[in-house]
Amino acid sequence: MQTGKIGVTSENIFPIIKKFLYSEQEIFLRELISNAVDATQKAKALSRKGEITGDLGDLTIHVKIDKEAKTITVTDQGIGMTAEEIDKYINQIAFSSANEFLDKYKDKIDVIIGHFGLGFYSSFMVSERVDIITKSYRSESPAVKWSCDGSPEYSIEEAIRQDRGTDIVLHVDGESAEYLEDSKIKSLLEKYCKFLPIPIAFGTEKVWDDKEEDEDENQVEDNNMPKPETLKDTIINDINPTWKKPPSEVSDDDYKAFYKKLYPQSWEDPLFNIHLNVDYPFNLTGILYFPKIRTNLEIQKNKIQLYSNQVFVTDSVEGIVPEYLTLLHGVLDSPDIPLNVSRSYLQSDSNVKKISTHITKKVADKLLEIFKNRREEFEKKWDDLKLFIQYGMLMDEKFYEKAKDFYVMKNTEAKYFTLEEYKNLVQANQTDKDGNIIHLYANNRIDQYTAIEAAKSKGYDVLLLDGHLDSHFLNQMEHKLEKTKFTRVDSDVVSKLIRKEDRPEVDLSKEQQTEMTAIYESLLPEQVGSFWVQYESLSEDDLPVVITMSEYMRRMKEMGRLGGPETSLYNNLPDNYNLVVNVNHPITKQIINQKNIDLSAKIGNIEKQIAPLKIDQSALEELTKDKKEEEISTEEKDKKEEIRQQIHELENEKTKILKEYGAGNKLVKQVIDLALLANNLLKGADLTRFVKRSVEFIEK
Ligand code: ADP
Repeated sequence: MQTGKIGVTSENIFPIIKKFLYSEQEIFLRELISNAVDATQKAKALSRKGEITGDLGDLTIHVKIDKEAKTITVTDQGIGMTAEEIDKYINQIAFSSANEFLDKYKDKIDVIIGHFGLGFYSSFMVSERVDIITKSYRSESPAVKWSCDGSPEYSIEEAIRQDRGTDIVLHVDGESAEYLEDSKIKSLLEKYCKFLPIPIAFGTEKVWDDKEEDEDENQVEDNNMPKPETLKDTIINDINPTWKKPPSEVSDDDYKAFYKKLYPQSWEDPLFNIHLNVDYPFNLTGILYFPKIRTNLEIQKNKIQLYSNQVFVTDSVEGIVPEYLTLLHGVLDSPDIPLNVSRSYLQSDSNVKKISTHITKKVADKLLEIFKNRREEFEKKWDDLKLFIQYGMLMDEKFYEKAKDFYVMKNTEAKYFTLEEYKNLVQANQTDKDGNIIHLYANNRIDQYTAIEAAKSKGYDVLLLDGHLDSHFLNQMEHKLEKTKFTRVDSDVVSKLIRKEDRPEVDLSKEQQTEMTAIYESLLPEQVGSFWVQYESLSEDDLPVVITMSEYMRRMKEMGRLGGPETSLYNNLPDNYNLVVNVNHPITKQIINQKNIDLSAKIGNIEKQIAPLKIDQSALEELTKDKKEEEISTEEKDKKEEIRQQIHELENEKTKILKEYGAGNKLVKQVIDLALLANNLLKGADLTRFVKRSVEFIEK
């Protein structure tokens, strides 16, 4: 037996490795199996070149657990190593690269992905001793056993191994006993090795051996006889995963089946897929799926898996694909993505940039192709695709440029239009006096039903924008599309939604308006929000009172909800509504007339007192208007103040009379409640009272 010391500076790097990479411990198995796969593929290549003669035999890689001996063994039939090769690759290179790795990443262990580069030595993260028993394919070399307990000392001796290949035996340490559980190893193999190109066997399963039965055809079949049963190795991987196949050989069903294989938990079929297959100038294969995503929860669940030559690396691909594409599912496989660098470095890597651009282009091209050739199918799936496409358009200018040709909007009748088509549809009837094309929209077909119907009766079209990102999206559209404005269908009374000419004058004096406002205000429900009473000359067919929330106000609030703390100011604003009184409606006219009859004596009396005061006031104003502040006498000032005070008190008295009158006015209450009801704002006790009052009105 020969012993030696590995040439490293630090006495014992294994405890350091163990500590640093504790959370990444499990990668040891991936590293060992990757090595076994490499060695096997090298054997296949040598066989093709004729450097290994004869049959290569079964190349399956075996993973075995021996609970008693507390070992995990990975066995391959690869090229093996000679004693010299062990010295070179394991003692020198591998060790120094492990050392180098540590030096490099000691302080930023958290920023590297998967810790590639640690290789074989990662096995010491879980072992107190590691043995390599290997025999090179070179027939003259004897089998050797290398053994190391984690200190820089190792031993190497001749060993017995009949055939070409390598066993790596991990003597699992006490702290890592979990790795001696079958279920643990199985889950790791399924995570990292599911698509490796060489069969990997772990455990056995029972199979019914039909062959023997078939051989003897004369034998009478006896169903009661137990069929012969044999044990077969369980192969955990699919050596020829769908993404590695030429796209022309893969059917729709194959793509779906592969999706199931990737995400066994998901029960929804994906919408579409994109098969990536590039050799040059970078190597990239993979399949991306557009999933059905409806909730945030689902977005988190299934992620794009990144592989490097069929070895699983990670399922966090941020930095490698644009953020909005991380909503897609599927696999990407590229040996050209650097794996042991930080995320921020990744984004500046030229290959990664190219790959990311390529993926974006492919995704956009695929969507355009489906839109052009299979529009019906595209529209059917639109509701599921929409969120994803909007996200892309908001995040990525290049994607926007492509997507604007296939982005479709759905109207409240469930018809779909591209931006261009929609413009052509509404341009004639929905252009306002300033030349803006008004896109009317609703975000709730039921709550906004009244307003939608009102708009439709005017011949307008109403879009349905009820998605998570729609409010952001319409801001972007207004920015991008010329002379296009989005207006929610209930943001104003229908005749004013699209202003085609200047509004007609309101036939109600300012004094009358002030008086009426006092009456309406006395009946507004404070808990709903604050109201601004306005007067409009609408059609007799419109309602007597209409409640709206301005587009501007509502967007402010929406932004408040979506944004961070800096916008919470908007979020806390009370709901501000407009209470629009239709002065042309017969009921409004009736209310005004009745008020004039009921209150003319009382109000007339107060006004009689106000009138002379106002005359005095303007006389005083006239007298002092050319004087500077200091030239006005104290007497004049006091007089002014006294008159102001008197007028103020009389006005207050007037308002009090109007409010008292209003509070008892059931007709006004009724028309306000109707407007609240049409906006889904009438609730609880107010609703009950409304119903009772309505019955009274009917009984009259
Ligand atoms: P890497 O695989 O990145 O080169 P490792 O530390 O994992 O680094 O392995 C070092 C070297 O040891 C490999 O390059 C290979 O030459 C050799 N080696 C490791 N495992 C095996 C194996 N199972 N069969 C043959 N050679 C191996």
